[in-house]
Amino acid sequence: MSAAADEALLTRAARLADERVAPAAPGWSMGAEPDPALFAEAGRAGLFGVEIPRAEGGLGLSFKVKAALAERLARVDFGFAMSVINTHNVGLRLAASAPEALRRRWLPELLAGRLHACTALTEPGAGSDLAAMRTVATREGAHWRLDGEKSWIVNARRAGLAIVFAQCGAPGDVAGIGAFAVDLAAEGARRRAIDAPFALTSIGAGAIALTGVRVPEDHLLLPPGAAFGAIMNEINGARAYVAAMCCGMLAEALDRAAAHGAARRVFGKPLRAHPAWAAELARAAAALEAARALTARAVEAVAAGRDAQLVAAEAKIVAVETCQRALPELLHAMGAKGLEADQPFSRHLAATQMAGLADGATWLLRARAARLRLREAPARAAATEQDEG
Ligand SMILES: Cc1cc2nc3c(=O)[nH]c(=O)nc-3n(C[C@H](O)[C@H](O)[C@H](O)COP(=O)(O)OP(=O)(O)OC[C@H]3O[C@@H](n4cnc5c(N)ncnc54)[C@H](O)[C@@H]3O)c2cc1C
Repeated sequence: MSAAADEALLTRAARLADERVAPAAPGWSMGAEPDPALFAEAGRAGLFGVEIPRAEGGLGLSFKVKAALAERLARVDFGFAMSVINTHNVGLRLAASAPEALRRRWLPELLAGRLHACTALTEPGAGSDLAAMRTVATREGAHWRLDGEKSWIVNARRAGLAIVFAQCGAPGDVAGIGAFAVDLAAEGARRRAIDAPFALTSIGAGAIALTGVRVPEDHLLLPPGAAFGAIMNEINGARAYVAAMCCGMLAEALDRAAAHGAARRVFGKPLRAHPAWAAELARAAAALEAARALTARAVEAVAAGRDAQLVAAEAKIVAVETCQRALPELLHAMGAKGLEADQPFSRHLAATQMAGLADGATWLLRARAARLRLREAPARAAATEQDEG
């Protein structure tokens, strides 16, 4: 697709973010639920169809544009950004793996922003260790029967459709995991909201309980053997765009602090004219540049279809930790004004903690990155020895 189409999508997203999302977002950190009309507007702007092929009603744009969209929305509200992107991702999964009847049933609703959707892996007893999942899928004639519980799922509180990962084989065997499209209005499926002081309502966090839910054969979108690898690949992409979202939140905080530093006068001059104050902003700005550079490499690798496991994990670690260090400093740089509801600092700080867990918790990613680097290290050492020899 053309650069003009990319630009047009991002312009529509920026308008929605600034004119419609920004005024509502402070309320979402204090318990208000988003107006469903906002998601319909996002649908009209094409936000749920970014990567979905044009033949399926989407825009057929690239992963890079999705990452840029995620960053732009997160500048204003991380929860809204995650909600939009997670519904979008289910659409992408349907477009790639669902039979035509299911695509026709769900895709138009999803693209219009009338149907929220989620991807459900995590369970009360299985987060980082996904192989430990206990949700089971059992064959019953031409149907599957699903039993289990999913928790901390983006959009779950309002989703009508879930991609549910469940064990079809022996417990603990990742090759036995399959992924099913589940209509959450089906008998035996229940949803509930997970409310937490740190969780913005816009992210729609929730849990799903499945008790004897009957799922037709053709709803198995990713069969055992294929599902685990497919989702791990998808999660590399998620790590890259979550890193971009963190960069977006920090960029917004920096802009707000810089504007405040120009307007606010203390001891007879603007805040920004005090070197100790300006130094903190300069430090945050440099850290953001570094996080952006690594994030751009991760986005590039995912977009090019290269192995992005290491770079995506490292980009997410660095972007999250950069926010975790810089956002409290920028909040402090604002004085008490930074705590007010119309300022994004405390919302973005809470969102940073969420970003540190969603799509791979930081310490787990550090362990993975260390393993991948160690694997690379002997190969590099051997190459150096050869060069020197
Ligand atoms: C905002 C938000 C949105 C989410 N959205 C979704 C969603 O849409 N779908 C979904 O399926 N899940 C979702 N999750 C769940 C998320 O994927 C899990 O929270 C995450 O995988 C961590 O699992 P856990 O919370 O059970 O923590 P645990 O796995 O119990 O980990 C606890 C702590 O131990 C650390 N740890 C784990 N393993 C290691 C290790 N090997 N070495 C060192 N330290 C380790 C972790 O970093 C963490 O700090 C979401 C979570 C949040 C907070």
